[in-house]
Amino acid sequence: MSEAAREYEEPPSQQIQVLPREDAHGGDDLFRKVDLARKFWPEATQSEWNDPRWQMANRLRTLEPLSTLLDLKPYQKPRYKRLIDAFHYSITPYYLSLANWSDPEDPIRKQCVPDLRELEFQMVGDNDPLEEEDDMQVQGLVHRYPDRVLVIATNACSMYCRHCTRKRIWHEGESSRSKKDFQAMLHYIRVTPEVREVIVSGGDPLTMNMELLDWLLGELRRISHVEVLRIGTRLPVVLPMGVTDDMVKMLRGHRPLWLNTQFNHPAEITPESREACDRILSAGIPVSNQSVLLRGINDSPEIMKDLCHGLQRIMVRPYYLFQCDPVRGVEHFRTSIWKGIEIIEMMRGYTGGLTIPNFVVDAPGGGGKIPLQPFYLLSVTDKEILLRNYEGMIIKYYNPDETHMERGRKSNGAGRDGGTAQLLKGQGKALVPEETQRYKRRKQKDLLFKLGDMK
Ligand SMILES: *Cc1c(COP(=O)(O)O)cnc(C)c1O
Ligand code: SF4
Repeated sequence: MSEAAREYEEPPSQQIQVLPREDAHGGDDLFRKVDLARKFWPEATQSEWNDPRWQMANRLRTLEPLSTLLDLKPYQKPRYKRLIDAFHYSITPYYLSLANWSDPEDPIRKQCVPDLRELEFQMVGDNDPLEEEDDMQVQGLVHRYPDRVLVIATNACSMYCRHCTRKRIWHEGESSRSKKDFQAMLHYIRVTPEVREVIVSGGDPLTMNMELLDWLLGELRRISHVEVLRIGTRLPVVLPMGVTDDMVKMLRGHRPLWLNTQFNHPAEITPESREACDRILSAGIPVSNQSVLLRGINDSPEIMKDLCHGLQRIMVRPYYLFQCDPVRGVEHFRTSIWKGIEIIEMMRGYTGGLTIPNFVVDAPGGGGKIPLQPFYLLSVTDKEILLRNYEGMIIKYYNPDETHMERGRKSNGAGRDGGTAQLLKGQGKALVPEETQRYKRRKQKDLLFKLGDMK
């Protein structure tokens, strides 16, 4: 048995030792977290803590623990009662243990603890801005794009994200679809040969009965035109011990299968979540990440870069960065569109492309995901294009039918004033900002070569 495996199977002691979070926000983290865990679950042992069933059974879900958590005064309780009646809550002990309770702005806390602003903003936004209901061919099956469909397999999650786009289905109670519902979806997919990919989402499909999920994936697999399956789950982030060997073994049998998860902040990258991702990856299932851009949580280029670098280190590929949808009860999380573009601007070129997600807006009215990015295309004429790179270098690019002769002819003296017109009119190849590190390196290299020549 490997060292790592032994550690996992034999809890070293009977007392909870919540592992310190990896991004090292401060040395006292460990003690504070253990204190919090002891407050709510004083009797818990390490092996209970590592048991997903214990985690599920001990989630905070009622007014009582919420009052303790927020230290509510009696007069405040009715409002919170109304809040959690409107939008229920559920926090796994594990996820709660990642929060820093001395910080009201803590990114973990904001994602899981109900906030009165959810009620304040209840009238802003839609229940179903993406009009998923309108694109449902069969109850629970969204067919929006030509070649792929989305199965809303359950509306249960182990933790309810306060920013969830599908808050509207929380009202329907926690349940997965019945086998009969799935049969209807399967029938639709069978008779729709353009469907080559099926995305099983929710809610969180990995909270479903594993036999039912196994059956569903197996039935999908049997449809000859369904080439690829995908699962959307937040389990590795909010309940990583729930990613069990049995589960992974089951999933492994349904490959080609891709798994998308949702890390939103570097503080969520812990030894436990890394281990969960590693188990999935080791089964030959690629793990990608879809973050939601959330005000006050990750709406800064620095945090997003940290997150994406952290994800790359645990071999999870940043796939999408979602603009937060205008959903009822979520308005306080929304940022301006420009924030997402700024984040991409600060990443593209400066760091590896494998760490850069696509920033997308899921268009209201069922328009689907629309990618947005900084403006790299500055101008176009019939044959020429002005591009800029991440540093601000402006480059003229030729389309392939452009000949050199034509280029010469077009130069008529216009554009002598410089700037981008000068480029388009045929003088020079690029406008180059000269103060960048890259040019300093180039100059240094030239100098070194010259010195070398002199020897
Ligand atoms: C996001 C989404 C998909 C998947 O889109 P990709 O761009 O392939 O990730 C499919 N169907 C629906 C309804 C979706 O919202
Ligand atoms: S895991 Fe996904 S579906 Fe579940 S509450 Fe969070 S965002 Fe919503």
